[in-house]
Amino acid sequence: MIVTRFAPSPTGLLHLGHAFAAITAARAGERFLLRIEDIDAGRCRAEFETAIYEDLDWLGLDWKKPVLRQTSRFDAYRAALDGLDSLGLLYPCFCTRKEIAEEIAHAIEAPHGPEGPHYPGTCRKLPDDVRKARIAAGEQYALRLDVRAAAERVGRLTFIEHSKSVDADPLLFGDVVLARKDIPASYHLAVVVDDAFQAVTLGTRGEDLFAATHIQRLLQ
Ligand code: GLU
Repeated sequence: MIVTRFAPSPTGLLHLGHAFAAITAARAGERFLLRIEDIDAGRCRAEFETAIYEDLDWLGLDWKKPVLRQTSRFDAYRAALDGLDSLGLLYPCFCTRKEIAEEIAHAIEAPHGPEGPHYPGTCRKLPDDVRKARIAAGEQYALRLDVRAAAERVGRLTFIEHSKSVDADPLLFGDVVLARKDIPASYHLAVVVDDAFQAVTLGTRGEDLFAATHIQRLLQ
């Protein structure tokens, strides 16, 4: 059975691109789901979530109930992080945005991905005792995926895009954040965990997020 989902974040009103993505998912799916991607509490607003339901209703779409809201899923994200951590694929990152920008500005050649320059890997190189001391001192940290180690572990990956096999390039984004300093999850992590949980078989999303498939395939 083809299972699809429309997974908007209630951070603003839906636009025409969202409408197209929702219609595409609804038409393609024998089972069509709606997921509210609301982990970023600072940017999400209840009135935008209400507007999503109203707009999808207006479009004549019908989705399976209940709607999954990502704010109810933090235990599952934690479990996924624990699994990756037990494989040695995560590391704490203490860097601020400013420190990362400075490091990149000084780098001779900083690789770039779809979300901008790659994280330079500063905290990946920290010795274990330094990590422990900084955590014990109460420093805030994000969790990053060691993408190179993860990619080596799983080997070649492909995905199907419009009936054609595409080679995944999991290094495209560099060491992505899987748990933010302020939120114990991230977009890539939550999407992958929930697509698996909801048994989604066909991902549909805006072209602007197409590249995300490469890193999400690795996480799968
Ligand atoms: N929540 C994401 C957004 O609203 C889309 C999720 C996805 O389809 O991967 O842009």
